Amino acid sequence: MRRVYLDHAATTPVHPQVLEKMLPFFKELYGNPSSIHQFGREVAIEIDKAREKVAKGINAQFPEEIFFTSGGTEADNLAIFGVAKALKDKGKHIITSVIEHHAVLDACESLEKEGFELTKVPVDSDGLIDLEFLKSAVRDDTILITIMHANNEVGTIQPIKEVVKIAKEKGIYVHTDAVQTFGNIPVDVQELGVDLLTISAHKIYGPKGVGALYVRKGTKIKGISYGGGQERKIRPGTENVPGIIGFGEAAKICIETFEKNKEIARLRDKLIDGLLKIEDVKLNGHRTNRLPGNVNVSIEYIEGEALLLSLDMEGIAASSGSACTSGSLDPSHVLLAMGLSHQTAHGSLRLTLGKDTTEEDIDYCLKVIPEVVERLRKMSPLSRNDSQREIERSECSCTLKK
Ligand code: PLP
Repeated sequence: MRRVYLDHAATTPVHPQVLEKMLPFFKELYGNPSSIHQFGREVAIEIDKAREKVAKGINAQFPEEIFFTSGGTEADNLAIFGVAKALKDKGKHIITSVIEHHAVLDACESLEKEGFELTKVPVDSDGLIDLEFLKSAVRDDTILITIMHANNEVGTIQPIKEVVKIAKEKGIYVHTDAVQTFGNIPVDVQELGVDLLTISAHKIYGPKGVGALYVRKGTKIKGISYGGGQERKIRPGTENVPGIIGFGEAAKICIETFEKNKEIARLRDKLIDGLLKIEDVKLNGHRTNRLPGNVNVSIEYIEGEALLLSLDMEGIAASSGSACTSGSLDPSHVLLAMGLSHQTAHGSLRLTLGKDTTEEDIDYCLKVIPEVVERLRKMSPLSRNDSQREIERSECSCTLKK
């Protein structure tokens, strides 16, 4: 059976060149980079090289602006709690959006419980944040605005430059979670103008369990864990050396192979157009202002979970929301915030393409998915048959006449 992996937003396979680069750091290059002997020093030099590569990947001015963490989740937490800790005497108001990843949303809500005030910016039906709302939400005691660069579920890209414009007038820090954008669309901290930015290695064909927080020089932030002096005390703990080395290499390859995203976007559009031909299927997220690899559709009258299992049996790996929240049967907070009903949100399907996705993969999906949808709709209690549709139509016209 053909196997088609369309869950690149959840994670990506490690690039062979990345793995090769990492392997010596499990074997001969095993020194602790904090040690002053040669074993340690040679590893410390390689970590600095990886830091330079990651810095270059996001156009950071100084490699020291990169703080390695255990992933995107920790980097988001460090940005939010670290700035809150450093600026709590200046103000206690934080602004975020309703569609953030839980690493941001839950961190902000935790601060709220500790006495901070939180404002969540709503989004429109395409998943774009309301800039006017944001403008009016800014207060004299606002210390941080944290809005994601692009959403992990629906792929909508946010106007971060506009957010920065609003924030800078008042001297407010801006953090953006760029976990889903780095490697897929240009992520340039100078161009965006943000103060803090989160990235993660396993979304860019690097290893799992390593990420980074970019902190613009001069930004006030405090560490939120305690230990040694690693990462200039902002993130203490012996470094995940092979992970960091792999992250550096993955960041380098990302820039070198950036052009591939055009082809990914072409395949994405082919998949979207094909899926929209199925009756009662709607695209979630912005039609054009979206990540090159993201397809998210709502398929009425079927359960997302049943669809995922059926597709899995056909060899297609997809997702019904964010991988981090699957396992919970709650409908996606992102789709609900965009105005979808619980039932429609439950019938959502996310397919995320990557650098290894082929035309044949997309053709296979466009053959299999309509068949599976038809089969499930026939069995589903949610499904409407033609006579039900007729009844609904006449009821609808009666209501309109009234
Ligand atoms: N932020 C976003 C937007 C994500 O999509 C994810 C993971 O899916 C994370 C943060 C968490 O990153 P990590 O898995 O590296 O902890």
